[in-house]
This record gives sequence, C-alpha cells and structure tokens, in this order.
Amino acid sequence: MSTNLPPKLRAVIAKNWGFTTLRPMQTEAIRAVLAGKDSLVVMPTGGGKSLCYQAPALVRDGLTVVVSPLIALMKDQVDSLARNGITAVRLDSTLTTWEWNDALAAIKSGETRLVFVSPERLVNTGTSQMLREAGARTIAIDEAHCISHWGHDFRPEYRMLARLREFFPGSSVHAYTATATEQVREDIIAQLNLQDPEVHVGNFDRPNLTYRVLPQSDTIAQIREVLDRRKGEAGIVYCLRRKDVDDVAQALQKLKYRVVPYHAGMSAEERKESHDKFSAEEADIVVATIAFGMGIDRSNVRFVIHACVPKTIEHYQQETGRAGRDGLPSECLLLFSFADVMALRRIMEKSATEANSPPEFLAATKFQLDQMTHYASGAICRHRALVRHFGQVYEPENCGACDICLGDTQDVPDAVVVAQKILSCVARVNEGFGANHVIEVLRGANTETIRSRGHDKLSTYGLLKEMAKSEIRNCIFQLIGQNVLMQSDGEYPVLKLNSASWAVMKGKQTVRLIQMRSEESAKKEREREKGTLPAGSDPELFELLRQLRRQHAIRLNVPPYVIFADAVLAELARCRPTTPERMRMVSGIGDAKLRDFGESFLDAISSHSEAKALETDLPPPRDTSTASAAPSSGKMSAAKQLSFSLFREGSSLDDVIHQTKLTRTTISDHLADFIRLEKPKSIDEWVPPDVRKRVTNMAEELGTARLKPVYLALNEQVSYEMIRAVFAFMDAGRE
Ligand code: ADP
Ligand code: ZN
Repeated sequence: MSTNLPPKLRAVIAKNWGFTTLRPMQTEAIRAVLAGKDSLVVMPTGGGKSLCYQAPALVRDGLTVVVSPLIALMKDQVDSLARNGITAVRLDSTLTTWEWNDALAAIKSGETRLVFVSPERLVNTGTSQMLREAGARTIAIDEAHCISHWGHDFRPEYRMLARLREFFPGSSVHAYTATATEQVREDIIAQLNLQDPEVHVGNFDRPNLTYRVLPQSDTIAQIREVLDRRKGEAGIVYCLRRKDVDDVAQALQKLKYRVVPYHAGMSAEERKESHDKFSAEEADIVVATIAFGMGIDRSNVRFVIHACVPKTIEHYQQETGRAGRDGLPSECLLLFSFADVMALRRIMEKSATEANSPPEFLAATKFQLDQMTHYASGAICRHRALVRHFGQVYEPENCGACDICLGDTQDVPDAVVVAQKILSCVARVNEGFGANHVIEVLRGANTETIRSRGHDKLSTYGLLKEMAKSEIRNCIFQLIGQNVLMQSDGEYPVLKLNSASWAVMKGKQTVRLIQMRSEESAKKEREREKGTLPAGSDPELFELLRQLRRQHAIRLNVPPYVIFADAVLAELARCRPTTPERMRMVSGIGDAKLRDFGESFLDAISSHSEAKALETDLPPPRDTSTASAAPSSGKMSAAKQLSFSLFREGSSLDDVIHQTKLTRTTISDHLADFIRLEKPKSIDEWVPPDVRKRVTNMAEELGTARLKPVYLALNEQVSYEMIRAVFAFMDAGRE
C-alpha cells in the first residue's frame, strides 16, 4: 500500500477494509482530507470514492459529515461500514424517534465519527448546530454534480449546500463526483465555495469493462444472446421509455429470466420491491429507464445493456460504470439505432419548448447527443474514445476489451468508394429524401416512388446492389456520426450534404466504415474470451461460496455484496485458504469480516477442496497494485513472450523493436508489463540509475496515474518509455 499515508491510517484500512493496495488517486484524495484542505475528487463510478472520506474519518479529529442524495445509498453505506466493524449513523427523514435518539447518542458519545445526512437535513439549523457542537470538522459531499444545473442529475435540494460555509465555518469541504466535464467541475467549486481546492482527477478508464456497440435489430434476441452467455449473473438493461421497460421486462419474464422492471411510473412500493429483489439476488436482471441508478450499489453487476441511446457520453460512462464495480471482467453492450437518436431529439425539443428553456440549452443537449452518436458510430477503440472524451490519454495500442480491438468488427472494403456512392446518391436525389429512399435507389429497387420520380434513371441507381439494406443503412449512419453526412430535424428527416461530403466525393477526405463480422465468427470470438473468474479460480467453489454468502445475507438481512464482493469470493476460490491467517491475506477481508464469516467460509473451502482434491493455501497473486492490473502470463501472446525472453536477456528497447518488428509503443507496453510481472532487481539496462531516481522523485510528488505530468515536470527530457518503465518498477514494489 502507498507509503505516503500515515502508518495509523494504513493500519486502519488494512484492519477494517482488508485492502492490500490503494487505487490510483485514492492516496492523494485521502491526504487532502487529512490535511483539512478543500478538495474536489473526480473518479469514475466504481473507482472507489467512498474510501476517500470514510477512512480518514476514523483517524482525523472531530466528526465527518457525509452528504448523500439518496436514502438508499446512505443506508447501504452504513450497513457496509457496520460489516467492516465501523459504527456510522445516518440522519434522514425515515428514522423513527427512537432511531433518531440513538443516532444522536452515538454522535454525542463519540461512538461514531461518521454521520450520513441528507442535504435538507444538514442545512436545517437545529441539525447543523448539533453537528457543529459535536465537533464536525470535515464535510464530504457525495455525488456533488447534483448541485450543478449543467450536470445530468440536478437536485434542487443540493443548492442549499451553498450555505454550508455559514453553518460550518472552519471545516474543510470535500466534493466527490464521477462527472468530469469542466463546466460541472467549475460549477461545483463555485457553488460549494470551495477554497483553493485541490483537484484530483482519477483515471477514467475502466479496464475490466468490455465495450461493444451493435446496430439494433431484434432487440430481445440481442439481449438474450448476452443473458444466455451469463446465466445467473446480474445485469441491467436500459430502455428509453417506461413503455419499453414494461415490454422488454414482460418479454423476458415470459422466457423465464429472473427480471424486474424499474421506472418512475411505478409506485414507490413497486420500485422498492424491484430494488430489494435485485439487491438480495432474488432477481438477476433489472430492466430500467435511466431513472434507476444512483440507488443501486450491487457491486457484482456483470453486464449493462443499453437498448436505447444514452443522452450523453457522461450518462453512458455512469450507466456502464455500474458494471464490474468489484473489478472483475464485465461487459457493456450498446444496441444503437438512429431511430432512437431521432426520437430522443424530438423529446429534447419538446421538453425544451415546454420548459421554455434558453436556446443554447437545447443546442448544448443536442451537441452532447451528437457526441454520443459519434462515439457509437466511430471506428476507434472504445476505451480510447471514452478516455479521450474525459480529457485523458489512453496509452495501450490495443485495449483487448472492445469490439474494435477484439476484431468483432471489420473494415468495410473500399469504404471511401462506398461512401462516395452513398453521398452522390444523396446529391442526385437533390437532398430531398430520407435514408430509406436513398437505400432503395442504391439497391436498385423497383418501387412505385422510384419509377414515378424517375430515380431509376439516375446514375447511382443500383450502385450498391450487392450490399444488404441493413449494411447500407449502417454505413449511412456511420457517415452521419462522422459528420460527413447530415440528417435534418423533424418528423421526416432528410439526408443533406455538407462541405465534408463534397470533400469525400472529390477524394480530398477519407472515411473509415466498419461492419460486424458475421454473427458466427463474432460468437466464436466471444466464447474464446476469458470468463468472469480469474485463472485458477474454481467455478464450483465460487458458486458454493456465493450460496453461502446468500445464506448469511438472508440471516443478517443485508445485501450479499455487503458481506463479500465477488472479487473476494473469486480470490478465495483461487487460493483456497484453510487457516484464518491465510484467509486474512485476501484483499477485501478485514478483521471484522474474518471474525464474523471466517469459520463458515473456511469450512466450506476445506471440505470442497478435500472432496475434489484441490490444492489449498496457494500464495497470493503477485501483483494487485492498480486497477489496471497487469495481464497474467497465462494468456500472453506469442509476440509478448518473445519480447519477455529478449528483455530477460537484457536486450535494449531498440533491439527488441528490431527483432520483433513491432511498434515502439507495443514494445514499450511489453517492457512495462515485463517489469511489473517479473519484477527484475534492476532496470539499469533500460533506464540509467540517475534518470530513474529523477523520475521516482517526481512521481512521488505527482503520482503515477499519468505519464504526462512527470514528463512535463522533467522538462520533456526523459522519454515516455523510460517514465513508463520506472512507473512499472515502482508498481512492482522495487523502488
Ligand atoms: P464509487 O463510489 O467511486 O462509485 P465505491 O467507493 O463504491 O466506488 O467503490 C467501488 C468498489 O471498489 C467497492 O466494492 C469497494 O469496496 C472497492 N474498492 C475501493 N477501494 C478499493 C481498494 N483500494 N482495493 C480494493 N477494492 C477497493
Ligand atoms: Zn479497444
């Protein structure tokens, strides 16, 4: 674990949470709280924000007050903390008088140092005075983007937090959000009146998520393809309208999937029932409008399917972010359709008119939707595209976890020619027709409309005979998504050209178009892919432990993930400990959990391992240092194995590039992985010792989340390759 934290805090994290390492930016965020410096922490959903205010609360003088937007969220956090042996209380409108008095007593006696409060409670004079007198020193605002109009989840009650400073003079205020846009960030700082805040932005990549985009065709069949590959696992399916939710949920229920619906049109009880069933693992799948969201904290969601277009990339990131919060591989599928985009545009226009909102507001919403469309129809790595959207640089050349990089898609042959044919056809019909008609003309269809308008005489008639309708449609949408073709607003959208269209037609600009591989080969690809469980984890034992966890959950009336995350079960099923000491070494098992559940899990592990003659007490994994865990050597490509053997002999970067004929970026990737996995004693072959020292010193100050700050701080004199190598060396615990 990071050595930059006081030993006392490190001990607290190890004891209560059982985490063996901290994630990128957690250290920095925690240090800001300890120093009492206002801060804004931006981390993706699932990035680990709560630890940033929970852990320091236990060692800092005074009380920490956490503001959270949803009662369900607060309740979950208090339950989870209790499981880790930490007393926390919440103050909200659902408490009975008894519970309220209990909470007050715990605060006043100092039994608890963490209080969760709803925003309206906090700015209530009585409550704030009580908290002040009880020694409130640190204020943490969770989901802080709720304060901003520009955010996607504005909550009027958050606006009252602007008065926090009046109520708690002398306290430090810390804001946490997953929304990364500059505008929202500035708004949070201004509204909360943060004083000279430290801003920490975590890595926005979620390496354990695999992203895919498919043109929407048979929605239910496309959803089932995922469900059938992931039997018994948890997932969320998002739909645009309430009616779609009902339709999809019913269709899936008929097919005997364990599904619950969730949307704002349901009564509070119905929603609670759905929520509770999903939480308690009595249902596997929630079909929801995006209204469903912030309340759900089930950390083992294995897939998120969008059966509709998200409104913005922020929404997409947030919604897909609910998958794989436990760090295990999970997948995100977007079923994209232009009809949805048009429907969404109309909804936006309508609500803008109704709300009489300023025109720039509508323009901004449409722009964000365009960006989303662009993402969905783009042909670049999804991880790269997302990370880039959030203003960060994505290093790896191939993410190995998106449809583009995994080869689900292939380039449309002669994309430029296909594009030229489509665009010329739009020109020939005088930019007066929609996609359907243009497709018919290109395919040489013999219809009344075509004959009556003489479109069968056009030079573009039948030019794309050999392509299927859906393929041409797909290309048209990609051209729109790439801003090479336009589509008018309104109920009957018409295809229009712009200057980029002409540039393509004249051969001055090129385009790239992709298409899905045949369903068969894509399927094989997916089957070959890694399952959820890490190598060596016994699937039967994992299932057994899951059942055991469920029994404990029912007994204690808490959601299962509050007991152990799936990642913990997977690791238990891999290393199969037989003693409490061994079990305690697993990341995510603290003292309290060992005491409460150790015996029963150890028993299950022993008897299963014995019955199946499995080896027990295997050593811990070699590297668990960051979220972007180094790939295990089991699934290493041949190319990489060659690089590794050359590095082992001490070959220089240039030698290896020369011998493998791979690019510099790839080999520099390999070197970093080599250092992380094999932990060589020295890296002097690749980085001179004095340079290494300079980089290490700088990295200790600036962190190792990103290369660029260190590169700049060293006056651009040390190459990125060397910096990466040193970071890897530090990760390997050698520095
Ligand atoms: P966020 O609030 O940013 O969405 P959470 O605080 O809920 O994320 O954390 C997401 C998951 O990651 C939780 O299951 C949490 O226990 C786990 N987690 C957080 N920090 C660490 C860490 N340093 N090591 C291992 N797991 C962690
Ligand atoms: Zn990729």
